[in-house]
Amino acid sequence: MKRVISLLLAALMLTGVITAPPAAKAAGKKLIAITYDDGPGPYTDSLLDGLKARGVKATFFMLGNRVASYSSTVARMYREGHQLANHSYDHSNLANLSESGVRSQIQSTNRLLDKTCGSGTDYMVRAPYGSMNSNVSRGAGAPLIFWSVDPQDWLYRNAETVKNNIIRNAHDGAIILVHDIHSTSIPGSLAAIDYLKRQGYEFVTVRELFRRRGQSMKNGVQYSSCRSTGSDAGPVEAPIITGETENGRLRVTIKAQPGAAIYYTTGSGGLNQNSARYTGSFLTDYPCRLQAVAAYNMNGSRSETVTETFTMPKAKQPDIIVSEGILTIECAASDTEIHYTLTGAQDSGGWQLYTGEMPIEPGTEITAYSSCRGHLDSEQVRASFSERGTFFRDVFPGQWYYDAMDRAAAEGCMSGSGSGIFAPAKNITRGDLVTLLYRYSGESIEEGADLPIPFDDIAPGKYYAEPVAWAHNNGLVSGCGDGLFHPGRGVSRQEMAVIFYNFLNYRQLIPDDAGTGSWSYADEDKISSWAKEAVGFMSYAGLLQGNGKNEFQPLGNTTRAQAAAVLMRLEDYIGSINGQS
Ligand code: ZN
Repeated sequence: MKRVISLLLAALMLTGVITAPPAAKAAGKKLIAITYDDGPGPYTDSLLDGLKARGVKATFFMLGNRVASYSSTVARMYREGHQLANHSYDHSNLANLSESGVRSQIQSTNRLLDKTCGSGTDYMVRAPYGSMNSNVSRGAGAPLIFWSVDPQDWLYRNAETVKNNIIRNAHDGAIILVHDIHSTSIPGSLAAIDYLKRQGYEFVTVRELFRRRGQSMKNGVQYSSCRSTGSDAGPVEAPIITGETENGRLRVTIKAQPGAAIYYTTGSGGLNQNSARYTGSFLTDYPCRLQAVAAYNMNGSRSETVTETFTMPKAKQPDIIVSEGILTIECAASDTEIHYTLTGAQDSGGWQLYTGEMPIEPGTEITAYSSCRGHLDSEQVRASFSERGTFFRDVFPGQWYYDAMDRAAAEGCMSGSGSGIFAPAKNITRGDLVTLLYRYSGESIEEGADLPIPFDDIAPGKYYAEPVAWAHNNGLVSGCGDGLFHPGRGVSRQEMAVIFYNFLNYRQLIPDDAGTGSWSYADEDKISSWAKEAVGFMSYAGLLQGNGKNEFQPLGNTTRAQAAAVLMRLEDYIGSINGQS
């Protein structure tokens, strides 16, 4: 039965007979505005420090005759997002003045505040002593702000009393009146702020208090608080600045929440009412530091300032290719000029404009970069066409392994990845080390010999399958003890020594007196017992060397450059033995 009823209700709701209750509206936060009168004064900067530390925006009703003496304080107040407001020029009782007298008091102060905020800024007014009449109302030309919480801080010059008087009377939507010309009012009001924040209050400027609650304010009308309407428009979100390159310049786009104006500058100063108004994306030049703020009103109703720096992007790097003695330099980006030298100098003034492929001689070093309008020059790219005719993109003359890598490549023992990349610093794999030796050996497995490969992880079609079969069959390598060869694993330096030593043994090139030569490394006690004989012979025969600290680092990985260097020393060693015989 229950089920039938709920189905019936659902059907009624669908047909609109009964509507679902509206989703509860976001109740909104408890908002409260704290205001400071009669300044600025000698304590205002320490107050600003305290407000900044708490992320609190306040409203300052200031006297014109004090503003000029504290111009840097006023500028800071504005920069930090507080609302600047007018408390007459000299604290006259405005109710005693004519309408034009009131206007003069208000406008002279507005003009002084304009020096910071920019002309055209709106300033709310608080009449001294709260003294009101129709002349004040008309002459102010602005909303008149009263208060609903008065701690009488001018009377009780005691921070604790000020604090307690504020928190005792605080309420949602309140406007709190304090005077920043009394030293005790600074710690008293800050302590009250801390307490009320813990109670869930959010401190906002007077202008934000009314905007967020959807209340419009009228000139000449008194406001002393802003009760909750149950809705909260929320704070002003910071704008989002994006930029992209367009014909060598920067196109800037700035987005903000609906209804908020965007003010921006590409200059070094701050933003105010007279800053440029964003009306749509625009072009500017690199490099560019851009500041922007979203605002419903620049004076007291704006976001944090956002800064973005845009630097010109770099042109795409060119690719150098040498194939059969022909040099080609390409760049994937269009409208790009390529500059090159064949002298090997990277900072040479002798750059030439690349116009097309050209033959080059072995022993040529090539350097190139791209340039493109609206871009910084690309990073330089180097390549080497070696004396032995190998094209290298990552091995260069002057590197300790250059000659060994070049020889190993020229002799077909070591090959690059097809595009001149030899990865000298990369660890050599077990598969590659065995392939290196196999190629060096000049041996080949006779067709149909069908050497057994006793490892499950060596597929017959792999480039290292034949080398592994050869090496295993001739006692150069064994598996890893788990029935597998692990061709992709690295090779420690002592393992490398053993494999090369086994090769010499296989070729019967170990002299009878091997083991009598002397060798020593600072870390020789780290060499495993099974590797000592190999490391020892290879070292005193000059095939292995320690590092600058005379360490062998037996457990360190063998790089491709180290493997090539040892192989070439081995070749020289074998050559010298054969020469003697
Ligand atoms: Zn006052």
